[in-house]
Amino acid sequence: MITPVMPTYARAPIAFDRGEGPFLYTEQGEKYLDFGAGVAVNSLGHAHPALVRALTEQAGKLWHTSNLYNIPGQEKLAQRLTALTFADTVFFNNSGAEAVECAIKMARKFHASQGHPEKFRLITFEGAFHGRTLATIAAGGQDKYLEGFGPKAEGFDQIPLGDLKAVEKAITDETAGILIEPVQGEGGIRVADAAFLRGLRKICDDRGLLLVLDEIQCGMGRTGKLFAHEWSGIEPDIMAVAKAIGGGFPLGACLATERAAAGMVAGTHGSTFGGNPLAMAVGNAVLDEMTADGFLDHVLEMAKLLRQRMARLVDENGDIFEELRGEGLMLGLKCRVPNTDVGAALMDQHLLTVGAGENVVRLLPPLTVTPDHIDDAMAKIEAACAALREKQTKGAA
Ligand SMILES: *Cc1c(COP(=O)(O)O)cnc(C)c1O
Repeated sequence: MITPVMPTYARAPIAFDRGEGPFLYTEQGEKYLDFGAGVAVNSLGHAHPALVRALTEQAGKLWHTSNLYNIPGQEKLAQRLTALTFADTVFFNNSGAEAVECAIKMARKFHASQGHPEKFRLITFEGAFHGRTLATIAAGGQDKYLEGFGPKAEGFDQIPLGDLKAVEKAITDETAGILIEPVQGEGGIRVADAAFLRGLRKICDDRGLLLVLDEIQCGMGRTGKLFAHEWSGIEPDIMAVAKAIGGGFPLGACLATERAAAGMVAGTHGSTFGGNPLAMAVGNAVLDEMTADGFLDHVLEMAKLLRQRMARLVDENGDIFEELRGEGLMLGLKCRVPNTDVGAALMDQHLLTVGAGENVVRLLPPLTVTPDHIDDAMAKIEAACAALREKQTKGAA
């Protein structure tokens, strides 16, 4: 018999009752160290006092008005995001997939508004993940998400990551732009290096294409800069943001230059909930924290520490781990044993992580972690390795 909650997830058999900073607690009071952060969402940890205050204060005043009226929180957050980034304008929505949908629509509309409606295709990359709507599963191009859902939405041409020649070859008269995650999250923490991103920027400039970034997972401070592309020195034309921008409250945003957004006039796009006052109160509070003096320096410091520790741990446990990858506080452990076994062994040690493609375990701690939390995580990973090894020996005997 089907469960009342539709069984689309392979959930771990555990539920949490409350959280504080990097810790989660079950109803029974068992404490877990959360290095998954709700898949890079709870970047300020759980129950951050400033976010709780912002949300509860707004909840007592006004929840929702619709986008039939001005929403001052949107104007404030958009003004701040445009001041901090390449962008001149922002569309607010509720999730990552919606932010990517907006980006796809905008890229197509740009060329249509230039008299080239035939330019609607986006070049995307193997291993990509852009969401679960019909268009974003087509953009991601993964068979496991496309299978059984009818014809794949038209307009996405997928090529290997890191191959500029393949990009050049894939461009046709119908190409509108290139869509890429600077660091692939679900795909297994695969980094698009700076030279590749600069190459894409140049190709877009030379060929009149739009560069569209999906920074839903790697953005909002995760790599030690507010956005991951800043490391390469390039700027996109359009960028999808979500996950950590709401710190756990559903919020997405699609940022763009004035030029790229040229076609997005009144009536072209919309959302009932997008940018509602609750989301805006939280989004502005998240940005207050992330732009505070020293916040990103702290991320860089913790990232350096975690990377050093993890590199040693991977060396010392070469029977279990093959490789350490990633940027900032977005690290991936490529495993030699099934990553699901490693994830389960870590959970037994009360450390939460997230699986990813290419047999990787993701470490996505809150950006507010301290050296003590990192020490704690290291001890838990060591213990999990020992347990896995013991299980293997027993299995072999
Ligand atoms: C999570 C994610 C999405 C989809 O976001 P949802 O909020 O689940 O719709 C899209 N792109 C990337 C890179 C993501 O990590």
